[in-house]
Amino acid sequence: MLLTITTTHQPANDLGYLLHKHPERFQSFDMSFGKVHVYYSEVSAERCSACLLLDVDAVGMVRGKNADQNFLLAQYVNDRPYAASSFMSVAIAQVFGSALQGRCKDRPELATTAIPLTARIDVLPVRGGERFLRAVFEPLGYEVETVRSPLDERFPEWGDSPYFAVTIRKTTLLVDLLTHLYVLIPVFDNRKHYWVGDDEMEKLLAKGEGWLADHPEKDEITRRYLKFQPSLYRMALARLVQEEEPEDGDENDRPKEKAEEVLEKPLSLNEQRLGAVLASLRGSGAKRVLDLGCGEGKLLRELLKDKQFEEIVGMDVSVRTLEGAQRRLKVERLPTMQANRLKLIHGSLMYRDKRLEGFDAATVVEVVEHLDPPRLSAFERVLFEFAKPRTVVLTTPNREYNVTWEALPAGQFRHPDHRFEWTRQEFQSWATGIASRFGYQVRFLPVGPEHPDLGSPTQMGLFQLKEVDHGRFP
Ligand code: SAH
Repeated sequence: MLLTITTTHQPANDLGYLLHKHPERFQSFDMSFGKVHVYYSEVSAERCSACLLLDVDAVGMVRGKNADQNFLLAQYVNDRPYAASSFMSVAIAQVFGSALQGRCKDRPELATTAIPLTARIDVLPVRGGERFLRAVFEPLGYEVETVRSPLDERFPEWGDSPYFAVTIRKTTLLVDLLTHLYVLIPVFDNRKHYWVGDDEMEKLLAKGEGWLADHPEKDEITRRYLKFQPSLYRMALARLVQEEEPEDGDENDRPKEKAEEVLEKPLSLNEQRLGAVLASLRGSGAKRVLDLGCGEGKLLRELLKDKQFEEIVGMDVSVRTLEGAQRRLKVERLPTMQANRLKLIHGSLMYRDKRLEGFDAATVVEVVEHLDPPRLSAFERVLFEFAKPRTVVLTTPNREYNVTWEALPAGQFRHPDHRFEWTRQEFQSWATGIASRFGYQVRFLPVGPEHPDLGSPTQMGLFQLKEVDHGRFP
């Protein structure tokens, strides 16, 4: 099993930075299924190719707990050592982990630059043949080249094998290429070596963010990824909320410096914001609350201190952040009664999620500005149409206020991960639109010291579901 990633971006050997793997080194990693080796087959300023070679221990593997016992000889004769399968995805995630997260320590700008990339997979078992291969990769903008292997070169009359050498090409971000390979390689293959459960569905939804919902083959991809388990795949499809009318997002100038916290510290704006959100929640009478994009759990900690809140759920898309929250909140050391009130869940605001339904209130504190503008509409539906809490408290920076911070160069955002920052007018028209579309009323409140012309540093929208008049008893 071999995956080769090539770029002709100049200087091409920057690929080493992008993959966090030194071009001069041959590195090997132990995996549960065998070994993975990374090396470069070609390194120059013009062209650079990195190889990910899987060396699967077929016998050791089938003797393990996941043994496929249907066919006794399968213990010794199986295609796993040769064919790319979900092991390749496991290897991509473990060996190219940072690149798969879109991170590049030494050349951060490279990770957000589209570069000419080619991926070649040797020996990909494809159920559905070339037509399916093209139907999957072409809508994502890839140029596809395939060569099918004969079953046995010595006996052409036996016909073709199900194996292909596949090459895909596109000028794109490395993170996008790796994400597509990570999700799609197991989709072509018939078998999977690990148990498919909720966990797999979460992975699919997380990695499918931004492209799967609109893919013409999303049904088939989801069905195959989840290995035809109808309950899981129906659940996954239901959560792939299609985005409405994507707009052109202007995320061209991504800011680089000045973490938000440093700027805001002297104001202790963070504390003022928490105070304002808490006060609104208390005022709403909510007992069961959701903190969406809870981060490291600053608000959760405050909620836990107040007995009004009987059930508190924090959700975030980042597992690492949730682990941080778990540590900071010292969940294991809380008395049982307290610990039972709190739940931390992993999930994305891009997908419809049953776990978010039936709450009195939801807070979305400094989160929307982290979402890609074309995907805001999916978030709006997930929260206001499907989860539909009675109260929503949402905060976001007021861009107009940024000019008062000398430390922040003009035109930059407060945090490198912000996709946008809104003026008061922009925020209010967005929020008013949502309120009218989904049956809410919205009020706006300033948070932090108010400037006479520029407003306050944080803006807060308080949404209240309009009660439907069911008619009264006479
Ligand atoms: N509410 C917290 C954290 C704000 S930072 C606070 O005020 O301190 C933004 C958070 O949103 C991050 O933790 C990030 O992981 C999370 N986030 C970004 N995109 C998300 C998504 N699609 N779904 C859920 N959480 C998301």
